Order: sequence, then C-alpha cells, then structure tokens
Amino acid sequence: MPRKYTYGPFQSRRLGLSLGVDILTKQKTCTYDCVYCEIGTTSLLVPPTYELNNPPSALYRKEIKEMMRLFPNLDSITFGYNGEPTLNSHLADFFKITLEEHSEVKWLETEPYISLFTNSSTVHLEKVRNRIKNFDYVLAKLDVGSDDEFIRTNRPHEKVPSIETIINSLSKLRQMMKKKKFGIQSLIYNSYRKDFYSNNNEKNIINLGNAIKKIKPDTVQIYSIARIPSEYFVYAISDKRKKSIVKTLKEIINNDAIEVNYY
Ligand code: SF4
Repeated sequence: MPRKYTYGPFQSRRLGLSLGVDILTKQKTCTYDCVYCEIGTTSLLVPPTYELNNPPSALYRKEIKEMMRLFPNLDSITFGYNGEPTLNSHLADFFKITLEEHSEVKWLETEPYISLFTNSSTVHLEKVRNRIKNFDYVLAKLDVGSDDEFIRTNRPHEKVPSIETIINSLSKLRQMMKKKKFGIQSLIYNSYRKDFYSNNNEKNIINLGNAIKKIKPDTVQIYSIARIPSEYFVYAISDKRKKSIVKTLKEIINNDAIEVNYY
C-alpha cells in the first residue's frame, strides 16, 4: 500500500515503538525556524494563526487502520516530526479517526498513546488548545525561558507571542489535560560560533526551571541534537551536561510529581 500520512514505525528513545503521522504538506510548514532543526530550514515560515485546510482523505482511515493492524505492539502513534501539526485546522478530525481505529485493534500488550508533538507557538489560541486537549500524550517544546534566547534559538515568526505568553498558555493547556499525560521537551545545544550564544547557559536553565515549575507537567525531557542540524555551527551537548541540567532543574522544580529525565 502506498503511504501518504504515516512513516515508520521506528524505535524512539522517548516514546518507544512509534508510528509517525504527518498531516502537513510536503513543504516544511512551521512557525519557527530553529537553529538546530533536523529537517532543514523552514521553507514556509507562518504566523501561529495560519490555518492549513488539509482534511483527512479516505486514504487516512485505510492507512492508519492497516498500520495499526500490522504493528499491534506500538507504544505510540505520534503526530508531528515534520513542521507544526497544530497548524492543520483538521487536526481534531485526524485524531477522531485515529481513536476510532485504535479502539478496534487487539493490542498485544499496553495500548499505544495517541501522542502529539507541538512547538507550543499556537497554544495561546483557545481553538488550538481545544484541538489538542484530547490527545493521550502531548509533548510541548520549551527550549528557553526568555525572549532573547527564544529569538536566537527558535527564530519564531514575528507574530508568535512572547515566551511569557507561551509559558502561561502551556500552563492553561496542562490544566485542561489533567487526566492525560503532559510533557515538556527541551532541546539544549552548544554553539561553535563565538558571537552566537547557545541556550546551554545557567541563566537559561534557571529560567526554564522556573517556567516548568509553573507549568507542572508530568514529565520533562532534556535532549540534544541527534542528526544534522539546520545551522552548521550548532552541536550536541554531552550526556554529562544533560545530567547536570537535570540535577539543576530538579532542584528548582522541587516537585517529585514531575519526572525529569535526559535522553
Ligand atoms: S519547531 Fe520543530 S519543525 Fe519547527 S523549526 Fe523547530 S525543530 Fe523544526
């Protein structure tokens, strides 16, 4: 069967055996142009209010059904990976079909999560929060705790709100998802360029810790660059550094209900 929407499944360190679902067009569409992006430069940099009218075709149900039956050992069916999925105004329709088909499968062990990666730039919009609140597991990006770091690292579209608004909106979304799993994922990287500071600095880690303390997610995932980044001058931090970031964050968050790990 030719596949249009799904790819993998592949073994993910953070999600287990994950089937990727891409509901955007082939052109990378995002509200950010992160320096470390592993899928290249953003060809279509859009504001958070941008709506991609890309409804699921009849093929989606057929494809997702077949993939779920082929892999009854999945840990996650994951929307994202290629641009910002919340920009598709039909995200909830894709979710509904996925859920319907998910409930028809005889899963081998535990049922896989229906998960969503978001870069968090659209969660200040109520309609977007409503679009994503039903997912079993939402992993929201937060790499920085201040606007200057935000502009340098994520290079957002000029209409993306401030990092403070984003943090407050993540907090709101988390409240709407109390019975679901909610995670923050933070990519920390280094820079070879002397005139370009990376987000791997204590001030940023402290700001991040304070933001996470406020949001109160279930999990925090610290990770770094694993493939070729968009900009040549950025590179991965070491595992030793990840470990020390986790330690600092745990001290700031001071809440055993929030699991902080590195990958
Ligand atoms: S938010 Fe994700 S897809 Fe968009 S530029 Fe950043 S890393 Fe790439």
